[in-house]
Amino acid sequence: MTKPVIIVHGGAGRWPKTSHKTALEGVSKAAKTGFLALSEGGTALDAVEIAAISMEDNPIFNAGTGSTLNFEGKVEDDAAIMDGDSLRGGGVAMVKGVRNPVRLARFVMERTDHVLIGGSGAEKLASAFKLPRASLRVPRRVRAARQDMHLFKTGRLTVLPRNYRLFRAGLLSLSSDTVGALALDSQRNLAAACSTGGMSLKLPGRIGDTPILGAGLYADNSLGAATATGIGELAMRSTISRVACDLMRTKSAAAAALLTTRMVGAKFGKGIGIITLKRNGQYGAAHNTRNLCWAVQTSDATPVAQMTGKRV
Ligand code: ASP
Repeated sequence: MTKPVIIVHGGAGRWPKTSHKTALEGVSKAAKTGFLALSEGGTALDAVEIAAISMEDNPIFNAGTGSTLNFEGKVEDDAAIMDGDSLRGGGVAMVKGVRNPVRLARFVMERTDHVLIGGSGAEKLASAFKLPRASLRVPRRVRAARQDMHLFKTGRLTVLPRNYRLFRAGLLSLSSDTVGALALDSQRNLAAACSTGGMSLKLPGRIGDTPILGAGLYADNSLGAATATGIGELAMRSTISRVACDLMRTKSAAAAALLTTRMVGAKFGKGIGIITLKRNGQYGAAHNTRNLCWAVQTSDATPVAQMTGKRV
């Protein structure tokens, strides 16, 4: 029997000091809930789903309740889950009003023949599976979107320069922090899950890295598991989670997280964070953003929750 491990993150980016306490309590709670499931014999898949749900239900995080708003002031969530044993995965994109998108992603993986389902099709599936619906807009995000919109309209929101040009041309009438979880269960299986509202002021219909296997997450028992956060476009172009898993063939989980972040930073730009986990129980967390909010729980050490990992 292997000693279980869970590592979770609540997003990279710039966390305001006033949110640190609540966010760290949130990731600690998610890690604790997932670890409890593992200690009671639950699978890695169960643990990552439970941990992600805990963060989706916590309005401090940009996933489920508390998701960021898109350019039209609406919530469109992405989420995914992956099993390191079977290499099966499921994702949902652009879903509106589903309280726990990661649950829907698991249904896609286990109950359909597909890997990724988006928009109204995914919402129909949520109704068919009787998943709870909810209003996911919270006042804090509405205020943040208003502030971002002001910066955007005055050309001061530097992360969306092309969208700003579209806006200036009259063709359009932007912070981020996803959640993610990786677990190792007593049967030595790995799993990964992630969920997000995406980037603030993203264009309606924009899909980020989170529901894409290899980008937002990857899990393969023969390599390791990884899940990313930050600017999704960088994560997709670099297939960051798959790269981190490939590195774990020969490197430690910590080295893989660090090297991947460095590589993405050098080739694609800053704005990314990643957590990693190996079958031997080693884990890593690295980022080239101001913060990475994360927590880990193992059988041997006291739980850790931090606002920064290895910073590149
Ligand atoms: N990666 C997510 C996205 O681009 C956002 C985040 O991690 O904060 O949709």
